[in-house]
Amino acid sequence: MRMRKKSWAEPFLKENPDFVIEKPEVRADRWHELLGCTRLRVEIGSGKGDYFTKMAAMNPEEGWIGIEKEHNVAAVAVKKALAQPHEHMAFIAQDADQISTWFAPGEIDVIHLNFSDPWPKSGYAKRRLSHARFLKQYETLLNENGQVIMKTDNPKLFEFSLTEFSKENWRLCEVSVDFRRLPHPEDAITEYEQKFMDLGQPIYRAVWQKKKNERRTFMRKITLLLFCLCLCGCSAQGSLDGRLQAACTQASALTINVHADNVKDLYSYYVEPGVGRRNSTASSNVFVLDNQEFIMNLNIAEIVNVKLYDQTQSVTLPQGERWLSVSEGEFADVQGRTQKYAAGLMAAANDQVMVMVKTPYFTFTGLSNETGAPALAGEMIKIARTATVDEDAVLKAYSSRTKISYVKENLNLFEDEIPENGRLEEMMPNKPVHTGGDIDQSGETFDDGTSADDLPLNENDDDIQTPSESE
Ligand code: SAM
Repeated sequence: MRMRKKSWAEPFLKENPDFVIEKPEVRADRWHELLGCTRLRVEIGSGKGDYFTKMAAMNPEEGWIGIEKEHNVAAVAVKKALAQPHEHMAFIAQDADQISTWFAPGEIDVIHLNFSDPWPKSGYAKRRLSHARFLKQYETLLNENGQVIMKTDNPKLFEFSLTEFSKENWRLCEVSVDFRRLPHPEDAITEYEQKFMDLGQPIYRAVWQKKKNERRTFMRKITLLLFCLCLCGCSAQGSLDGRLQAACTQASALTINVHADNVKDLYSYYVEPGVGRRNSTASSNVFVLDNQEFIMNLNIAEIVNVKLYDQTQSVTLPQGERWLSVSEGEFADVQGRTQKYAAGLMAAANDQVMVMVKTPYFTFTGLSNETGAPALAGEMIKIARTATVDEDAVLKAYSSRTKISYVKENLNLFEDEIPENGRLEEMMPNKPVHTGGDIDQSGETFDDGTSADDLPLNENDDDIQTPSESE
């Protein structure tokens, strides 16, 4: 989160050393005692602090610690917290990179990750708060029943997190692809969440529990193995692989004889009468099939990259070890062009199966029971085949590539914004002016210093911006 520089922020944070803890490592193993609580919750990346302060007010019997590395933002959060009863609260205005030194093993009950920065470029994946590098630290810090609860608007970050937690052997306890469709008065709305809700975008939420001791893990593996065996071989309805393959092949071979009746600015598509449409935004749609929701997201970054740089379109599922079944192939779209697809099924909580279909233009994600999962993948392929995308409109909406010097603009920005993301050097007045932004593989540059896959994932922000991919 980046916002205008506040001259009062640094002094204000220093003026409140009892609340803004400068050396959290000194308090490790004493947080419960110091905050007078038996349960401790920590929010990493608190931003302006709406969630942390509202939840602490709603749950005064619990200890609440907010962590935010940007001091201008942290100061706003601290101001809010100090305006309410806060004996059971504390704040750490530092980068959570070192979180494992701030708490004792097993000291935390819940870690909240709310609308974390997506860091879309794969080179920066390690900075994502749901990267394995962080998950290993959370695992140590959480107690036996400890949980990580994530909310995000960003489907790519959500997909990444589902895979990453699964690879690290966490248990997925709850998952929702439209959390706010039903009222959840027990869970406060964050600043970012409110913005996305106002835009009608779905909120993704998942809860993971850390793995239990070895014996339980072993039992779980046995259960999972039995479950997989059942899915893969013993089912009276045939193997999961076979059913997924059949559903995808069948959906790819059907004659497409429809015209798109859902026309949007960037693309259009057709859905069969049995599929309901829950809501949609410029780039996302939530559908319902047999009471199960699924999402269709436009692959904006890939489209821009391919269009600008002639990059080869890669259609691959997130790299993980937990796909129960995968089917890859090609279909002809409504315009007669051949497109690749990859469909995958992954075990989720409560005997549910996560279904994902990737095509060059769209990523579909949904949950289903095991029986219905292959058919859902087939339904996703059918919609993808009817869709046409206006690539020029996507480019116009999401990329502003002109080879002008962005340095002057950045210099102006530097006047009143915090330099960050390693761009300070480029913004320095005495730095020899160079006439382009980031050099991407193609050598092309963007006027705003971002590269194509660092798209404004949290759009529509005024004073708050995600670092997005520009870093
Ligand atoms: N949670 C708030 C909300 O939902 O409105 C803010 C979301 S904002 C997109 C993400 C925040 O996480 C930013 O303020 C950023 O500075 C903070 N952040 C990102 N990585 C962090 C880290 N490693 N340690 C502490 N804060 C971090």
